[in-house]
Amino acid sequence: MTAFKNFPMVKMVVYGRGSFAQTAEILAPQRKADAPFIFIVDDFFQGKAELINRIPLEGKDKIVFASTADEPKTKQVDAIAKELKDEFGTVSGVIGIGGGSMLDLAKAVALMMTNPGSSADYQGWDLVKVPGAYHVGIPTLSGTGAEVSRTTVLTGPERKLGMNSDYTPFDQIILDPELIKGAPKNQRFYTGMDCYIHCIESLTGTYLNTFSQSYGEKALELCEEIFLKKDVWDDDSDDKLMMASYHGGMSIAYSQVGVAHAVSYGLGFLLGTKHGIGNCIVFDHLEEFYPDGVRDFKAMVDKHEIHIPKGICANLTDEQFDKMIDVAMFMAPLWENALGKNWKDTITRKKLREMYEKM
Ligand code: NAD
Ligand code: ZN
Repeated sequence: MTAFKNFPMVKMVVYGRGSFAQTAEILAPQRKADAPFIFIVDDFFQGKAELINRIPLEGKDKIVFASTADEPKTKQVDAIAKELKDEFGTVSGVIGIGGGSMLDLAKAVALMMTNPGSSADYQGWDLVKVPGAYHVGIPTLSGTGAEVSRTTVLTGPERKLGMNSDYTPFDQIILDPELIKGAPKNQRFYTGMDCYIHCIESLTGTYLNTFSQSYGEKALELCEEIFLKKDVWDDDSDDKLMMASYHGGMSIAYSQVGVAHAVSYGLGFLLGTKHGIGNCIVFDHLEEFYPDGVRDFKAMVDKHEIHIPKGICANLTDEQFDKMIDVAMFMAPLWENALGKNWKDTITRKKLREMYEKM
């Protein structure tokens, strides 16, 4: 019986302003003869020379631009992996450059370069059996913790669920705060709040232990400093947000997220609401579960003059509410972390319907 989680961490980490320039040097020892590196890059950067021209392409290396219009889907992962296998056979590695979507896409494609079947077959816990291709994450947006996590969240035919496995974490991450500088204010906030919400859910959860707490408290302190206390957003804020995301991710490695994430997954599955903004929409209504966290969240929304959409569930049908409720209810570990073993006493379908109706 496994009493204690035994989990892998990212193998190699480089952090610092300008560290992106070291990418070629970092990749070189991993290059195999006749197998290119594949850079999966957010298509926001297509044509933006200041980033694209710094990607160190050699030989048959290839940039695959991917859209963030939708969050990563199993179909999309399978299609990219198949194309790469057809074109190259094997690759030296897969490098994701972008926000959480691109980091997740790169992790999933790397795993599907070596594992048979569809990525949908591996949505769940510990279903991946073979190490993937070498994979590297280079964030251009901070908050999700996808750079350190053991999952890659995918929307599949049945549900939105991660490929959680020991082979999922990156072999290498390159954390260069210069790359997140250009993110638009609203997006930076939504994704930054993902980190803040990870902290609140982890620190108030029943799964909390000292390992999680030590990372969660540091991440929370950094979030409060940059989103609540400081009056200007500057380079120091980007440096700190990048490390808050890292610590927030580490905090959930040994605990779990909670109510906001469970409910937000329902919105994401049915309405395609993005993770960051979806968490904000939900968290805004969770005073009952996280009174202090929600109070401070509202103060941060006001301070940064952020628009949190309202009424997104206004015109849904009973079937649509039911689908969201199914997805949310399925997240048992999240509810158990938030409310304990008897979570089903509080969280009924009726309760979830009332919660969704407020959003
Ligand atoms: P994202 O990657 O979806 O990007 C959001 C938007 O920001 C996009 O329009 C993108 O083009 C833009 N963008 C990114 N970097 C930019 C930059 N430097 N300048 C300007 N625009 C930029 O956003 P996200 O919030 O980082 O990631 C959300 C995804 O992360 C979801 O798919 C979610 O499921 C996933 N996620 C994964 C984990 C995990 O542990 N694997 C955890 C949380 C969230
Ligand atoms: Zn999250």
